[in-house]
Amino acid sequence: MSRFELTVWGARGSIPAPAAANTRYGSDTSCVEVRCGDRVLVFDAGTGIVGCGRKLYEEQVGEIDILLTHCHFDHIIGLPFVIPLYKDHAAVRIHAGHFLDDTTCRDMVERFMRPPYFPVTPKQFAAHIDYRDFRPPAVLDLGDGIVVRTVRLNHPNGAVGYRVDFEGRSICYITDTEHEPGTRDEAVAAFVAGAEVMIYDSTYSDEDMAKYRGFGHSTWQEGVRLCQAGGIDRLVIFHHDVLRTDASLAKLAEEAQAHFAGARIGATGLTLAIGDDGTVTESHDDGTGQAG
Ligand SMILES: [Zn+2]
Ligand SMILES: [Zn+2]
Repeated sequence: MSRFELTVWGARGSIPAPAAANTRYGSDTSCVEVRCGDRVLVFDAGTGIVGCGRKLYEEQVGEIDILLTHCHFDHIIGLPFVIPLYKDHAAVRIHAGHFLDDTTCRDMVERFMRPPYFPVTPKQFAAHIDYRDFRPPAVLDLGDGIVVRTVRLNHPNGAVGYRVDFEGRSICYITDTEHEPGTRDEAVAAFVAGAEVMIYDSTYSDEDMAKYRGFGHSTWQEGVRLCQAGGIDRLVIFHHDVLRTDASLAKLAEEAQAHFAGARIGATGLTLAIGDDGTVTESHDDGTGQAG
């Protein structure tokens, strides 16, 4: 079977958090690269996509699918800095389906990249850009055996959760979403069940949740419960609150793993590869080029 793996390029929520106290887990906002054989899918275009785009350019990757959960700034602010968008060898499909009105993906990018907010407009992209609109629960057939399922999430202004199914294995990317405390979101639970890995909005903890009702985010404990209910081996704790530091995330890792051995903290450079039999192998590139 073919390679199937994800790499986290940014795991923070809301706003980047560059600081000496945040070097271990990284400071960039949401971006996850998924490799399905030779194909490249990139989920969200937060600041993490800048490094991802640089690497894809260095590898001369010609075909890229960017799938956006929604267009809050922490999920799109890196888009204007994706090098392949400015290269004529590249073909890039940008998918979005969270809109609650008749806004299209192209409208969204054009409104976002325009003076006086930003000097460059999408007219300056040299790549072949294909804007793709959908409405959850649409099933996106990306070819080469890659099927991407979608689900609507509970988030202000809308958001979409994704599930990539490839050669009998599955990765779920579920951010940003709010659950009703004490109640499982059955639509999400059914959607993620049986996957090998789930990346999940863990902005808060159950203890904090009462203070943040209506903010559109969930908890690491809810991620654990969804994994346990759905037979999912690995949870990637994701969309870290800006106040979380390396020290508090390391503590969270211990606490989460005591509840669920497959819990991992989303960190820039973390790669999870899913083998033919569904086993997950982990590595971490700390930026020195040495995976460890
Ligand atoms: Zn967010
Ligand atoms: Zn959001």
